[in-house]
Amino acid sequence: MLKADNVKLSIGRKQILKGVDVQARAGKFTAIVGPNGCGKTTLLRAITGDLPYSGRIGLNGRDLSDVSLADQALMRGVLAQSTPLSFPFTVIEVVRMGLMAGTAAADAVLRQNLPLQTLRQVDLMGYENRFYQELSGGEQQRVQLARVLCQMWDATRDDQPCWLFLDEPVSSLDIAHQNEVMQIARDFAARGGGVIAVMHDLNLTAAFADHVVMMRDGQVVASGDVQQVYTSENLSSAYGCRIDLSVPVSATAPVIHPGVVVNA
Ligand code: ADP
Ligand code: MG
Repeated sequence: MLKADNVKLSIGRKQILKGVDVQARAGKFTAIVGPNGCGKTTLLRAITGDLPYSGRIGLNGRDLSDVSLADQALMRGVLAQSTPLSFPFTVIEVVRMGLMAGTAAADAVLRQNLPLQTLRQVDLMGYENRFYQELSGGEQQRVQLARVLCQMWDATRDDQPCWLFLDEPVSSLDIAHQNEVMQIARDFAARGGGVIAVMHDLNLTAAFADHVVMMRDGQVVASGDVQQVYTSENLSSAYGCRIDLSVPVSATAPVIHPGVVVNA
């Protein structure tokens, strides 16, 4: 389980997280949603040990502040919102970095074919010797996901769940690759791992997430399953514009659309 209690975080004089409580369970896909600038990435960066915070964050029952970054790398893989690289790495070199982060040296030898397997999973076979910098934004995002999957190939380790922390994993992807990546994340959860993903597409989130955490202005304003969190009132208040929902007869999840304001 991931449990954040009363997490506060300031950058300079600006308080960005104002006492955030979040719980996410292994075996589930948890989505964090909310408007631009509300603190989603900052929360994820606290959870991944990249930013100092006050409060408590526990992962698999351990206080994160007591776990070294090297040990955290055995427990979770992180896909950042963007990952620019300054050196001309090839795709396969980038993906192999996941092996270094997430496995003991002996494991790494056994797992030499993993980079190609994960590239196949993200539909990038044949790209291994291309330069990362020469790929499109969406292709780079999928290379980085392959790196994370290399690191977290097993959804559990020593009977403990492993975790994927994904910041906008599908924001640059076309609809087919969005579905593919969401399915990879769901499969990871189905195998016993935990997934926390920052998401913008509320309809895609409704289709794939088990649990939704909605943020606004550095705070959690709603959390629960899709039916609980997706109300017109919650969404309109979080995003500051009118948002309507409808449930088509054939659909299992509500469909969200901007409210149409007709001027009289
Ligand atoms: P989002 O929900 O869009 O992911 P972020 O967590 O990236 O939002 O940012 C939350 C707020 O914190 C924004 O107002 C952003 O401008 C501010 N912020 C983020 N990083 C910094 C920084 N390094 N310095 C100053 N302000 C920052
Ligand atoms: Mg962000």
